[in-house]
Amino acid sequence: MPKLNQMSKKPVKHNSLRKAAETDLEHHPKLTWDKSRPVEEILQELQVHQIELDLQNEQLRQTSIELEESRDRYVNFYDFAPVGYLTLSFEGKIEEANLTAAAMLAVERRELKHLAFNTFITPEEQDNWYLHFRSVLKFDHTQTCELLLQRVDGTRFYSRLDCLNLTKNGRISGVHLVMIDITDRKISENSLRIAATAFESQEGMIITDSEMNILNVNSSFTKISGYAAQDVIGKNPRILQSGRHDENFYAEMWSRINQIGYWEGEIWNKRKSGEIYPEHITISAVKDLAGKVSNYVATLTDITMSKQAADEIMHLAFYDTLTLLPNRRLLIDRLKFALASSARSTKRGALLFLDLDNFKILNDTLGHDIGDQLLQQAALRIQSNVREGDTVARQGGDEFVVILEDLSEAIFEAAAQTETIGKKILSALSQPYQLGAHQHFCTISIGATLFGDSQTEIDGLFKQADIAMYQSKKAGRNTLRFFDQQMQNGLNIRAILESELREAIEKNQFELYYQVQVDETNRALGAEALIRWLHPERGLVSPVQFIPVAEETGLILPIGKWVLDTACAQLKTWQKDSNTKHLKISVNVSAKQFRQADFVDQIIDVIQRHNISPTLLKLELTESHLLDNIEETILTMNELSKFGIDFSLDDFGTGYSSLQYLKRLSINQLKIDQSFVHDLTSDKSDRAIVRTIIAMADSLNMSVIAEGVETEEQRQLLLNKGCNHFQGYLFGKPVPIAEFEALVCISSKGRGDAASS
Ligand code: C2E
Ligand code: CA
Ligand code: CA
Repeated sequence: MPKLNQMSKKPVKHNSLRKAAETDLEHHPKLTWDKSRPVEEILQELQVHQIELDLQNEQLRQTSIELEESRDRYVNFYDFAPVGYLTLSFEGKIEEANLTAAAMLAVERRELKHLAFNTFITPEEQDNWYLHFRSVLKFDHTQTCELLLQRVDGTRFYSRLDCLNLTKNGRISGVHLVMIDITDRKISENSLRIAATAFESQEGMIITDSEMNILNVNSSFTKISGYAAQDVIGKNPRILQSGRHDENFYAEMWSRINQIGYWEGEIWNKRKSGEIYPEHITISAVKDLAGKVSNYVATLTDITMSKQAADEIMHLAFYDTLTLLPNRRLLIDRLKFALASSARSTKRGALLFLDLDNFKILNDTLGHDIGDQLLQQAALRIQSNVREGDTVARQGGDEFVVILEDLSEAIFEAAAQTETIGKKILSALSQPYQLGAHQHFCTISIGATLFGDSQTEIDGLFKQADIAMYQSKKAGRNTLRFFDQQMQNGLNIRAILESELREAIEKNQFELYYQVQVDETNRALGAEALIRWLHPERGLVSPVQFIPVAEETGLILPIGKWVLDTACAQLKTWQKDSNTKHLKISVNVSAKQFRQADFVDQIIDVIQRHNISPTLLKLELTESHLLDNIEETILTMNELSKFGIDFSLDDFGTGYSSLQYLKRLSINQLKIDQSFVHDLTSDKSDRAIVRTIIAMADSLNMSVIAEGVETEEQRQLLLNKGCNHFQGYLFGKPVPIAEFEALVCISSKGRGDAASS
């Protein structure tokens, strides 16, 4: 469009000016053509007029510049307004749009033209839009609606649409739209709605201002505390305090809130009814934009129920359900604590292991219910004989543990204090127990160790007390023993022994010795195989030293297999010689070995492998390990004895076998323990025992053999009582096979010869 001011800049020419002036004059109301007037005057007047015209022209030019500027401004304002403007046709097509609208819809402005506006309405809002648009066209001058719009790229935004209908020549021709993006507002409205829902959640909530005046509480708070909103609004939450926490508690809580803006914990509060209850509370400080605390928000959960449940769980986790004493877990906890406090105070403490004597027998014979009753009564007795701060715990089974604290700093005094308490417990527990209809007597063995002089590990202390307890069992039960350095030394030696034993198995450092067994005519019947360890440095090591370690560590299994194998190989060799083919071998079998699931198979295998008669092999078992699991023992023994194997009951008289058990076991021979043989000549009661054993064997149809026979006198006494099989130094010591065979050759010739060898 040509600009107005450019047009007015054309040069004004003289003749045309005159012409213009003439026409001008003709129409000019003031200027009349007076021919009598001089031409100069008229020209001057014209000039003035011309100047006036120029001035007017200039004004006009100025006005049109301003007009143009204002139009530009309008266009700018229109295009870059913070809201979108659109003009829609009667049919809803876009006829005009400002740049903001195009930007909001993410389309180039020129591409918007003639697009139907509903292209940008989400499918779910189409109906809504249609109704609005129609209603603006038909009835309303203006309408406002909020719709979810969708851009071509699929992104969506909430928009407020102000619609105004346009009229042309008195008829509605379309709609003018003002479009505002209200997504942010919608989002914050949404989060407000969420917050409001959350506020009415299961957890109680309190909102205060920075001065701790309650601004609002939710209905869960009312449910928990019993206070309605109007009861507490404007008040300080202090009204909820139970009085159970001291000032320090609250001071610490506030110091955390001030430091990190947050505190969480369990607190006792008071309900409106006055009831005190536990709550789990979180308190958060809310800060304003300037970083100043504007509010505090507390959420609270009533944990009355969960606290009860937790207490219950804690009881199950840390207490023994039978005796209600602390269990091993809590015991360890307490011991840690006791060790720490003894280290601080330098006072000593003691750890005591208590083990009921022969509990297993009671449990097996009278049943578990009676066993449980005994444990409960024993627990009570132990507990009532220690001091208040001491711990009594049940380790499991029939084992109890006591921790004594605050003993003397002096070791011997502390030991004496421990002994006093220990003796009190021993005497209390040895009183008769009433278990249902039964009256029962029971004793305990106590092992004790002191702590407090140096850094002692918990494991170490447990071991020490355990060793001491076994020492007291060994010492005859119903007694107390202290762990001491000697015991510790023994422990160290055991560790060395174990590793050397492993090496011995690998390097085959064992040898089997044979000790002759004879009849009343001193004829050799066979031998007991006794293992020896030929230690490369220590020389011959006695089985008394290494068999217990081998049993504890399980090394007895490979060792036992080797013994059986060697003995059977020997039997095979003897079978080839008429002088030796009748000889039997007795092999000692450990409990661990006997309890192996495949023990029967092992025996059958070794016999078949060496192709020997099973009747030549005798297995020596000790009483105590038969009783461990009597039913299983019976099964194993029956199977083997069907196969032809003999059993001899070793160390007979030292255990607790009753006639009742012996009847059920396939035992061929009782072996009178050497302790009875030893004092036979001097001790009347030993003589009585031996007599009883022999009578018992007779009635059970078993043979009997006496071991440890060293003198002719002993032999004679035994013979007189009816024992006709013997083993002992009188006939021969355990010796290597070559020596044994030499001895047997001699002894087969006659009696006195063997004894003199
Ligand atoms: P045990 O089965 O009671 O063996 C008898 C022990 O008494 C043997 O000791 C033997 O040397 C000793 N003895 C024999 N006659 C007399 C005597 O007249 N006077 C004295 N004072 N002692 C006599 P040893 O050989 O030291 O064996 C000790 C224990 O080691 C055995 O006791 C047995 O329990 C165990 N043992 C030995 N060899 C084996 C084995 O191969 N396997 C298993 N599991 N244990 C074995
Ligand atoms: Ca034996
Ligand atoms: Ca024995």
